[in-house]
Amino acid sequence: MHSAEWHVKGELAVVEDEELLLTVLNSAPVIDGNPTDALSGDGTRDWIRALGGGGTRAEGDLLRRVRDTLHALIRRASTDITLLEAALDHARLRPVPFAEGVTWRLEAPADEELAVRVILAWSRVNTELPHRLRACANHECNLFLIDHSRPGTARWCSMAACGNRMKARTHARKQRFE
Ligand SMILES: [Zn+2]
Repeated sequence: MHSAEWHVKGELAVVEDEELLLTVLNSAPVIDGNPTDALSGDGTRDWIRALGGGGTRAEGDLLRRVRDTLHALIRRASTDITLLEAALDHARLRPVPFAEGVTWRLEAPADEELAVRVILAWSRVNTELPHRLRACANHECNLFLIDHSRPGTARWCSMAACGNRMKARTHARKQRFE
């Protein structure tokens, strides 16, 4: 069993987990029209190690399948949570006392810990920021965003990458009909 400190209410942990969630969700970008995948092929091991994982094949496979499941759930293309059940099966949150109270420590097999943290972060974002985790509105893009804007109207992974391009396209279409 591998364990990591898990401060459930810690502000820092929330931010870090959001970053981890987005990093994994956005690990299969479309670059110049070509789908890519950081979680398959030669670079996978280093990519996972940069996130603090061990980089084993089993770890990469699980992370990729969790990512693909979350993509489908976020896009509402599926409600199948079979894989999430399997990925969480060996994970436990253990209460650990300290001088001012109790903190929670995540315990999971080393190959599964990153995937578990991604699933927990996804769940927490859904709870704390309902409807703010969404796919980029550019259907040719495979990136996701967490909308922290006050009105909650963010639609693009980034204005530079997709926002301006999509706006230009809409503008061109409108002009055609004028
Ligand atoms: Zn995009």
